[in-house]
Amino acid sequence: MGEDGVLYEKYGHRVIYDAHSKLEALLDSIIKNGQWYWPAARSDHLVNIQSSLCMVPIGDEDKLKWNVSKTGTFSCSDMWDSIWVKENIVDWWALVWFPLSIPKQAFITWLAMRDALTTGRKLLIWGFQGDVKCIFCSHIIEDRDHLFFACGYSSRIWQQVMSLYSVLNPPTCWEDVVSFGLEEWRGKTMKSYLCQLVYASTIYNIWRNRNALRLKNNPCTEEKLIQRIRWKVMIRFATKGRFKKTRENDNLCSAWGIDGILV
Ligand SMILES: [Zn+2]
Repeated sequence: MGEDGVLYEKYGHRVIYDAHSKLEALLDSIIKNGQWYWPAARSDHLVNIQSSLCMVPIGDEDKLKWNVSKTGTFSCSDMWDSIWVKENIVDWWALVWFPLSIPKQAFITWLAMRDALTTGRKLLIWGFQGDVKCIFCSHIIEDRDHLFFACGYSSRIWQQVMSLYSVLNPPTCWEDVVSFGLEEWRGKTMKSYLCQLVYASTIYNIWRNRNALRLKNNPCTEEKLIQRIRWKVMIRFATKGRFKKTRENDNLCSAWGIDGILV
């Protein structure tokens, strides 16, 4: 590898042929008695390579260099930066990733945001032959937008948990909920974080119960699901939340039964 990177990538196979070499040749095939030992340069490319490399002193210790790293040494972050596909920043990221988010809930919410959960419609596209109707209502084919929150089952849960902070009749169309969240849950306030956590917790628990029903693995009732969402939100705020004591925050704490987080 030269200053310009991997020579093969820059010059291609032709330069190996011109150098009377082979793809798997080692460096010592062009070093003899401690000196560069090149065959006659038969192309402009070889002239360039040889004139560059003859400036490199032989005898120095070989060093590994990570090309993707700015410093030349290995770093996980530089490696990650080199392999991940960079896309435009989405406007909904803050609804998913925020200081009080619960990692496993944030992950499922992120998958839902990207419509990447394996819903019935996805399974159908992949050739699944079984029942792909919504497990909660059995009315239509299950997809992300029906499951969260157009289905009667999930919209009832969504409306009940949102009513705990006095939002009556929240939107139940997926796109509208996201737009509503982006508009209403902004800023580092207790109300914003609470709503974001309720949102993620609702998605996570509906998805979890849907899986439990499909696998007949101890599904829970609507009431229990709402309790579970409340409980998770309460625990998260009680252990991680610290907010200013204001009338609004006081009301939120009373509605959610959270103590000791206002200072
Ligand atoms: Zn349904």
